[in-house]
Order: sequence, then C-alpha cells, then structure tokens
Amino acid sequence: MNQIGHIIGGKTVSSGASTPVFNPATGEQSGAVASGGAAEIDAAVAAATAAFPAWAATTPARRARVMYEMRRLMEARKDELARAISAEHGKTHSDALGEIARGQEVVEFACGIPHLLKGSFSANVATSMDSFDQRQPLGVVAGITPFNFPVMVPLWMMPMALACGNAFILKPSERDPSAPNLLWALWREAGLPDGVLNVVHGGKPAVDAILDHPGIAAVSFVGSTPIAQYVYGRGCAAGKRVQALGGAKNHLVVMPDADLDQAADALMGAGYGSAGERCMAVSVAVPVGEKTADALVARLKPRVQALKIGPATDAGAEMGPLVTAAHRDKVAGYIAAGEQQGAELVVDGRGLSLQGYEKGYWLGGTLLDRVTTDMTVYQEEIFGPVLSVVRVPDYAAAVGMINAHPFGNGTAIFTRDGDAARDFTQSIQVGMVGVNVPIPVPVGTHSFGGWKASIFGSHGVYGPESVHFYTKLKTVTARWPTGIRGGAQFTFPSS
Ligand code: NAD
Repeated sequence: MNQIGHIIGGKTVSSGASTPVFNPATGEQSGAVASGGAAEIDAAVAAATAAFPAWAATTPARRARVMYEMRRLMEARKDELARAISAEHGKTHSDALGEIARGQEVVEFACGIPHLLKGSFSANVATSMDSFDQRQPLGVVAGITPFNFPVMVPLWMMPMALACGNAFILKPSERDPSAPNLLWALWREAGLPDGVLNVVHGGKPAVDAILDHPGIAAVSFVGSTPIAQYVYGRGCAAGKRVQALGGAKNHLVVMPDADLDQAADALMGAGYGSAGERCMAVSVAVPVGEKTADALVARLKPRVQALKIGPATDAGAEMGPLVTAAHRDKVAGYIAAGEQQGAELVVDGRGLSLQGYEKGYWLGGTLLDRVTTDMTVYQEEIFGPVLSVVRVPDYAAAVGMINAHPFGNGTAIFTRDGDAARDFTQSIQVGMVGVNVPIPVPVGTHSFGGWKASIFGSHGVYGPESVHFYTKLKTVTARWPTGIRGGAQFTFPSS
C-alpha cells in the first residue's frame, strides 16, 4: 500500500494520523495519506521561512532557469504524472495529459519572470529627483487545492509564486495526493532548493492552521464555494492576502442560427469530459427556441447513451468514474431530485456497472430536459456527468437567466451572429466567456477567474494577475546629494 507523507524542508515526514486513498475505478484502497495539522504547518512554515531569504535574493534569471528545467522535466515525465493522477482521480489518461499541458503553460509563463518583474522608472519627477518601482516577494505563501485537478491547479499557483521569489506551502486534496508529491520531486530535480516548496497533506485542521499562521503572508484557494468563502473570511481576518476561487454552474447558449452538430459536440465534451468534475464543465444547455431545443436534444440523446465509460487504462474510454462513492451517490441524488421536481429524464446514468470493476464509482452520462430555474438541479453545482437543458424563448431570456445565477465562472454562446456574440461578451455577468468555444479556460498568458460566488478576492490566478497577487509594490523616490540645496522644506513635497 502506497504511504504518502508530507514533504517539509526537503524530507518526507509522516505524522501519526492518516486518511485512506482509493482507486475510483476499482473501489479499492490504494494508499494512505498523512493527515497534518498545526504541528506540520508550523514545521513547514519554519522550513519555508528559513529558505525564503536566499531564494528571494536569487536573481529572477536564475529562478527562471528552474522554470525552464521544470518545463522540460514535466514533458519528459508526463506519462508517469498522468498515471499518478488517473490512479487516484479516475480521469482518462488523455484527459490527465491535457491537465498537465495546461499546468505546463503556467510554468512557461513563469519562464518570463525577469521581464514580468521589470519595474517602471521616471526620470526627473522633481528637480534632480528620480522615481522607480519594483515588485518584491511576499514571503511564505500557501496554496490549498481541490481534487479535480491535482496537477493543474497546484500549477496555477506554484510557478508564479516561486518565480516571484516566494517560498510556498501546498495543501493538496486528500483524495488524490500522490501526483502533487510527484510534482514536488520534479521541482526539486529542476533545481529548487529544499524548503522553498513544502507539501503538507490533510483536511480542515491543516487548512485552519494555514489560515491562522502569522508566518504565512498570502493564501490561494481553489475549491467549492462554501469553503472558498470560509477561507477568504478567516484568512483575511488573520491579515493575509487571500484569493479564493469557488464553484460554478456554467451555461452554454445555443442560438437558432448555430451549427447544431458543432454545438452538440461541444456539449458532449464540456458536459461529460472528466465525468463533469470540472469547474468549467458545462452543466446547463440553453437552446433558444423550441425548434432549436428539439433538434439539440435529438442529437444529444443517442450520443449520451453511447458514451464510452471505463477506467483510465482503457484507451477508448471517454470518461471515467466519479472520485468517491459518496460523491457518486450525491450526484445520483441530484438526478432523483430533478426527476421528482418535474424534469424529463431523457438519459438516466444511474445503476451503471462495469464488468471486472463492479466496485468502482461509476455513473453513466445523464441528460435532463425541460429543467426550470426553480429546480435544485439548476440552482446547485452537481459536479458530475449530468447535463440539464433549460429551454428559453429568446436571447434576452438566456442572458437574464445566466446573469441572475449566483455563480459566474464560465459561459459560452454558440452562434453565427456577430451582433449577438458581441452583445453576449459585453453584457454577461460571468468571468470567462466563450464564443463558439465551450470551455473558455484562459491560456497561461491571461489570468483565470470567475465572478460573483465563483471567486472571493480581487485577483484571478496565474497570468499577469498572479504577478500582482504574489508581490508587493515598492516605489523609490531618490535624489543624490548634489541635487539637495536650499535647507529644510516644511510644505508638502511637490514637483
Ligand atoms: P472542496 O471545497 O471540498 O475542497 C477544496 C480544498 O479545501 C481541499 O484541499 C480540502 O481538503 C479543503 N477542505 C474541504 N473541506 C474543508 C473544510 N470544511 N474546511 C477547510 N478546508 C476544507 O472541493 P473539492 O470537492 O476538492 O473540489 C471540487 C470543487 O472545487 C467544486 O466546487 C469545483 O467547482 C471547485 N473548483 C473550482 C475551480 C475554480 O477555478 N473556480 C477549479 C477547480 C475546482
């Protein structure tokens, strides 16, 4: 059985308590992960604090070289990383490779850190006086991440936090902790000094210890909305800089003029890829007009019924199991609630069993039609392979409905009409918008972040926003002695 320990100051440390880790495809326990609390966070902060000054003093160009090497190592070891992800998360191998590639983009962006940290300079802001600004690292910062992207989401944070000169403590999800430990090993091989990156495993006690620790300057969180809100409130109350990204309910609008085959393809991938366990998964299809709705549902139904579901070792599988038995049962409960509240159950994924994998956490693709906004399946994030169709009479009704939803992570419109598309991008109250693009996750040179209950805090993750989040601004105003004449000045300085 795989024993997964914390990594503190470059050493693997196991605390007494541990949590079981399961293979979702077989339902069998595959390992046990150490469960840390205040003592482990104290030790990690001590290691990070000791490592921080030398790392902060390392030139940005040298820090960038670690990023280049990390990029190379990730490329060389991506299959191993992908297998580690799939074994504990359940997603298909190709999907795990996709997550790795998107995390790698952030490492690539961090390679440009010498350029990104360039300050601005103004000569002669007053007589013989110049002004320049610089961005300095915060110190020890922490990241708390969810189960659904055990490599990509830590990489939304680590590369830029480290490239900016901070020391980092990662608290990954307790459900799939092996891949984050492997990531740490790659960072070390890439040349990151011991103590600059530490991994502490665990649940609420570890999170609370991070939020309360006076030695941690900032916290990045990605997970569900109730926990994001809690992390933001408690972290800010302790005087930290906090960014906390939460849950989602992403709508995809299908206009009457859209290419319906393209829209159906998009809904299949975005609704059922990774078994719907993505914060940017599309969980609501919004066809405009009854004719569009009938034609769309007719295309989706046979495809949902034919979804290829299997373990990550099956190269033909389009989606895998859900992450835990409890989560599978919760998603099945939403399907029951949808049916009970009057939705039309077009395809029911409950009761799926796979030969040889009878104890796995399987749930087939599910399609609900004629869902209305008062139903639980519409209001709450399901985080499973369940697509709801909400029929609307016109474009204005689609926009009004999306803008009234408490979540605002991602959305998309499928249309050939440039006016409608442009109006949508301008008026929709959502942070990441796709035009004929179902999962508009920004590339590494832009930043990621939703609106409304999908984010707490004022900075998105990775991209340019992360330079601001992981550094503090210092502005220097300088005059050399030859310029200082004329005695004391008691009025407020002006140019
Ligand atoms: P989660 O909120 O249960 O867990 C996230 C992290 O918080 C984990 O590290 C977990 O150990 C910790 N945690 C859990 N319960 C806690 C508690 N009571 N107190 C303190 N810490 C606690 O989320 P999850 O189930 O791992 O991930 C799925 C959720 O993450 C979904 O809601 C999904 O939308 C969201 N998500 C959001 C984004 C985004 O960018 N907005 C990206 C990925 C996932």
